[in-house]
This record gives sequence, structure tokens and C-alpha cells, in this order.
Amino acid sequence: MTYDVIVLGSGPGGYSAAVRAGQYGLKTAIIEKDARLGGCCLLVGCIPTKAFLHTADVWERFKHSVEEGIQCENPRLDFPLVLDRKNKIVSKHSKGVDFLMKKNKVDVIHGYGRLAGPGKIEVTSANGAQIGEARNIVVATGSEARMLPGLTSDAKRILTNIEILDLNYVPKSLAILGAGAVGVEFASCFHRFGSQVTVFEMLPRIVPVEDEEVSKELERLFRKSGIRVETGAKTGDIQVTGDGVRLKATLASGKEETVEAECLLVAIGRKPNTENIGLEGTRVELDRGFIKVDPYQRTGEPGIYAIGDIVAGTPQLAHVATAEGMVAMAHIAGKPAVPVNKNRIPGATYTEPGIGSVGLTEAQARAQGYDVKIGKFPFVANSKASILGHHDGFVKVVADQTYGEILGVHIIGPEAFELIGEGVLAMEAEATVETLRHTIHAHPTIYEAVGEAFNAVYGQAINA
Ligand SMILES: Cc1cc2nc3c(=O)[nH]c(=O)nc-3n(C[C@H](O)[C@H](O)[C@H](O)COP(=O)(O)OP(=O)(O)OC[C@H]3O[C@@H](n4cnc5c(N)ncnc54)[C@H](O)[C@@H]3O)c2cc1C
Repeated sequence: MTYDVIVLGSGPGGYSAAVRAGQYGLKTAIIEKDARLGGCCLLVGCIPTKAFLHTADVWERFKHSVEEGIQCENPRLDFPLVLDRKNKIVSKHSKGVDFLMKKNKVDVIHGYGRLAGPGKIEVTSANGAQIGEARNIVVATGSEARMLPGLTSDAKRILTNIEILDLNYVPKSLAILGAGAVGVEFASCFHRFGSQVTVFEMLPRIVPVEDEEVSKELERLFRKSGIRVETGAKTGDIQVTGDGVRLKATLASGKEETVEAECLLVAIGRKPNTENIGLEGTRVELDRGFIKVDPYQRTGEPGIYAIGDIVAGTPQLAHVATAEGMVAMAHIAGKPAVPVNKNRIPGATYTEPGIGSVGLTEAQARAQGYDVKIGKFPFVANSKASILGHHDGFVKVVADQTYGEILGVHIIGPEAFELIGEGVLAMEAEATVETLRHTIHAHPTIYEAVGEAFNAVYGQAINA
């Protein structure tokens, strides 16, 4: 059978694109090498980490319940049950993806897919090899954890995001290499579960893609909570010992230190899965392993599109993969396709406190020559944040003085990853600071802090 479209990979990019193809009435197949559908995000990324982070929040509440006037006698974290809950959530949603494929009449083919000439994919599985033919192919093969040269995960001491999510105990100590979103989320989570956590980051600040003030605030709060943070640090000579891992660290001060931990998590970035998928011999162009695409997600090879973590120039996030899938499918189906606007992609980091951001940071806005005005509002002045007992952090609006254009919104604080929705919508609708100042925010809510940050652009916040 010749399909209208074959999607290679069933992560949030691939499965969402397949659903949309089905909705457009395209004859569609999806190829997945793993036994379960859902990709990194659902199986070993966004969903299981957030399940753990939720439990860490609840556990923290129990430990500090007396602050709310609730006496809990000897609360205990039963980690195998925590793991079981996480696994159930993942299984439920992976089955949900199976259901979506059936509902949208998408054929699911399990096996390893490789491009095999124009409009052809060879799929290899335990049952042998078969060729799928399609007028269009959407490559959505995602990414995997980058490792340091010569280092491999042993699933016990040296871990990536995959193995750490399967530990059925809380390590006494955990060293983490890398303080991007993945590294800091695991730090926040396992610290609250009880591990002694040290985070090593080579760059001068943690969460380096965020606004500098946000990085500083997270670092301050991590340190205050007892997480050790070493920025500007080089690590090497990693050895597995009898009961853990030993590594050498050269700290920012130049001091050398030998660090021991029960486990080591490597979270130094994600490598695109673009090797061994038959790209050689095509006109698909690569940039350091990432696939170059045009605004409609077309690669250099006619009929081949690329979406998600393998794409050059867009952040490796689930919602970006999905959005790119929508663009590719609309283009394939001849429907209006609106390219992804890189400046309106929200970032969300689910640490304690959380981070939500969109648009330009203050430094980027200044570098681009805008006449920058900043509005900042601290959660300590927000009554709902006090009620929640989470009043660290702030909302920061980066605006242009000339027309009140909103250039960026950066939030660190309670539910920051939810609150950022208002900033994203405001920017998408091209609202100005003035529009947001007239937008009525219900009281008492934490999103009032967002409204107040817009007031603060003109030095007119009421509560601070
Ligand atoms: C620990 C962690 C936490 C994260 N948390 C978040 C978060 O909170 N929010 C967020 O937005 N992003 C998060 N991410 C990033 C997010 O997981 C990715 O951006 C997203 O999964 C990318 O989607 P994708 O469809 O491009 O690829 P993937 O999800 O990687 O899926 C690719 C799929 O293709 C399959 N595949 C690969 N090669 C082949 C082949 N040759 N044949 C057949 N199948 C193949 C793979 O098995 C996989 O199922 C997180 C990542 C990690 C590691």
C-alpha cells in the first residue's frame, strides 16, 4: 500500500502529526522501534519526571505540614510506590496514544525505520524487513542523552534520564552533570526525596537559556534549600567505585576536588537521532547532526519533512515538536500552515520554584537595540503566594518603551510554568503592556503577580 504520509517516530512530534494527518483524511502510518508509543517525552522525559516532581511537592508538604497547622506523625516516603505511581501514569498515557492511532485510522508499524530511497522506508523487526511507501515522509526520531566521551551508563551508578527514572530507591547522594532543565529538575526532585545533591555546570550559570536574574534566583534558592551548586566547574576522571562514583572537579575558583556520590546523573544535553536512519544519499542537510528545515519543516529532499528534537534551530521541547508536526501536516495536506514563531515558544522548568519564560531575555532585548523597560513584581507581595506558602521568586516583563511592545516575560515562582500562558497568549495576540494593565486579574490569585509586573513597567504596581 502507498500511504499519503509515513511518520517515523511516535514521540509528541510524531504521534501528534499522525493524529492531525488522520484528521485531514490522509492515509497514514507511523513507525516506532520501541514496544510502546509516546517517545522520550511520555516514557522517559516530561511525564515521568513531572510525576516524580509532583510527589516531591506533596512529600515536602507532609514534611512541613505543621506550618499549616497539620500534625502528621512520622510520614514516610515509600519509594517503590512512588515509582509504581509514575509507571502507571506513563502506561495509561502510552495506551492513550495507541487509542488515538486507532481513532484516527493511523496504521502502527513496530520496527526500526530507515529511509530506503525516494518515498520508501525499510522497517526491520523481529518478523523481518518490509518496505513502506509514501508520498510524504515526516522524520520525528527525537533525541537521546549525550554522554561524555568514553562514558556509558551502567544503569546502577552512572545514569541518564532513562535509568534514574527506574531506580527503586532514593540514593543517599547524587552528583549531576549539567544544569539545563533536565539536570535542575532531577536536582530539585531528588533533593526533596532526601538525596544530597551536587550540581556541576560548566557555564557560569545554571539554566543558562533563561534570563540572568532567573538563573541567579534559582541558584540562590537551590543553595538555600541545601543543593550544592558549582557553576564554571569542569569535571572528569569519572570512576565507578565499590559503592558509588568518584569524579574530579575543577571548581570556578581553580580549586581541585574529588567528589564521591552514590550515583551520577549525566544531563549534559540531547543528541539528535539522525544517524543510521538512511539520510546519507538524500539531499537532507545536517548542521552538527540536526536537520535543517524551511519554515514548513521541509528538508532539502522533496517529500521529506523533519520535526521535533532533530530539527536545527528550535529548542528541544515537546510542545515545539508537536507544533512543528502541525505545520508539516498542514503543508502536506495543502491547508494553511502557520510556521512556528521561535520568539513565542514558552519554556517551562518544573523545579521548586518553577520557571516559565517566553520571548527575549533582558540581555537579548538590549543586544537587539530595543529601548528596554523592565517591570518586576515579587511573589512575596502576592497574597495567594503567601497562602500557598510559596512566595519566592518574581515575574519580570521585558518591554519596549516606544510602543509598549511585550518582548519577553520571565517568571520564577509558584506555578510559573502555568502562569507563563498569559505571557505567551499576550505575545501571540500582539497585545501591548497597556492591554495587559487593563486586563482584570481575579483576586486572590498568583496570576495577579503577572498583572502587577505589567503595572511595574510604568512604575505603578499597587502591592509593591
Ligand atoms: C528528563 C526529560 C524531561 C523532559 N521534560 C520536558 C518537559 O517537561 N517539557 C517539554 O516540553 N519537554 C521536555 N523534555 C523534552 C522532550 O521530551 C522532547 O523535546 C520531546 O520528547 C521531543 O519529541 P520528538 O517527537 O521530537 O522525539 P522523541 O520524544 O524523542 O520521540 C522519538 C521517537 O522516535 C523513535 N525512533 C527513533 N528512531 C527510530 C527509528 N529509526 N525507527 C523507529 N522509531 C524510531 C523513538 O523510539 C521515539 O519513540 C524532557 C526531556 C527529558 C530527557
